[in-house]
Amino acid sequence: METILTIENLNKRYGRIQALKDVSFTIQKGRVYGILGPNGSGKSTTLGIVLNVVNKSSGNYKWFDGKVETHEALKKVGAIIERPNFYPYMTAEQNLKLVCKIKNINYSKVTEKLELVGLNDRKDSKFSTFSLGMKQRLAIASALLNDPEILILDEPTNGLDPQGIHQIRDIIRKIASQGTTILLASHLLDEVEKVCSQVIVLRKGEILYSGSVDGMASNEGFFEVQSNDNLLLKTALQEHPAVERISEEEGKVLVYLKADLTASDLNQFLFSKNIVLSHLVKRKNSLEAQFLELTKNATAQKN
Ligand code: ADP
Ligand code: MG
Repeated sequence: METILTIENLNKRYGRIQALKDVSFTIQKGRVYGILGPNGSGKSTTLGIVLNVVNKSSGNYKWFDGKVETHEALKKVGAIIERPNFYPYMTAEQNLKLVCKIKNINYSKVTEKLELVGLNDRKDSKFSTFSLGMKQRLAIASALLNDPEILILDEPTNGLDPQGIHQIRDIIRKIASQGTTILLASHLLDEVEKVCSQVIVLRKGEILYSGSVDGMASNEGFFEVQSNDNLLLKTALQEHPAVERISEEEGKVLVYLKADLTASDLNQFLFSKNIVLSHLVKRKNSLEAQFLELTKNATAQKN
C-alpha cells in the first residue's frame, strides 16, 4: 500500500494551550479519512501543520515517501482550509483560468472540474452571485485543477443549508470514487460516517480512536441487566474476564465488554453465583453512542 502522509508524535502548543498531544497516524492512498472531534480538538491545527501554515512544536510528518521537500510535495496536495475566496467580479470560469495560469495548468482542466462539481452551467456567472455552497464547490474544483494525489478539506459543509451539504458530500464521494485520497476534518459524526471509510477521533488534541469507521461501530456492545440486588450483581460482574466496565443508570446496570460474551453465557455465570436477573438485554452501541462513550471516557480519565 502506498503511503501519502505519515504523522509521528506531533505536538503543538499555543502558549499554555496544548493543542496537539503525541498525534500519530498515516494516510494511505485511495482512502477517505475523517478527522473527527468537537470544536477546539485540534483538527485545523493538524491540517495547518502538515500544510506548512502552522509551525509544529515537536514531532514529525512526512509527505509521500519523505524524499521530497514539503514545499515540493505540497504541489501534489489540494487543500481548502479557509472560506473560499475568489475575485468577486470575475466569473467562475475566469477565476479558475487564473488559477491555471498561476499554477501552469492546462485550461482544459477548467471545464472538467466545473463539470465534476456541477457548476459548468454557471461558469459565466460572477463569483459574487454564488451561494456559499456554490463558492465551496468552486473552491473544490479549484483545488482539483492540478489533479492532486490528495484533497484536504476543513469542515467542508459548515454554514451550508441541507441541500448544499448534500451536494458537497456527493461530490466528495465522487472524487473519492475516482481514486483521489481524501482527508477531511469535521465535528459532525454523521458527516464522517456518510463520507469516510477511516476515522481519527480527536479530543483535546489527543487521538482517542483511529481505524475504520466500521470498526468504531462494531464494538463488542454492552448488556443492560437488573436484579433485586444490584450491588451484589455488580460485584459478581466485576469478576468476569470479559467485562470492561460497569455503570448504573436508572436502576439498570450497564455492562461494557472487552471480549465477546453471549447473553446466555452471562446469565449462566450470574446464576452460578446465585444471582437471578429480572432484566437482560444485549445492545450494540450506535456510532454516535460510541463516539460519545469515547469522548466521555477521556474526560473521566483526566479528572
Ligand atoms: P478544531 O479545528 O478542532 O476546532 P483547532 O485546531 O482550531 O481545533 O484548535 C485547537 C486548540 O488550539 C483550541 O484550544 C484553540 O483555541 C487553540 N488554538 C488554535 N489556533 C490558535 C492560535 N492561533 N492561537 C492560540 N490558540 C489557538
Ligand atoms: Mg477547525
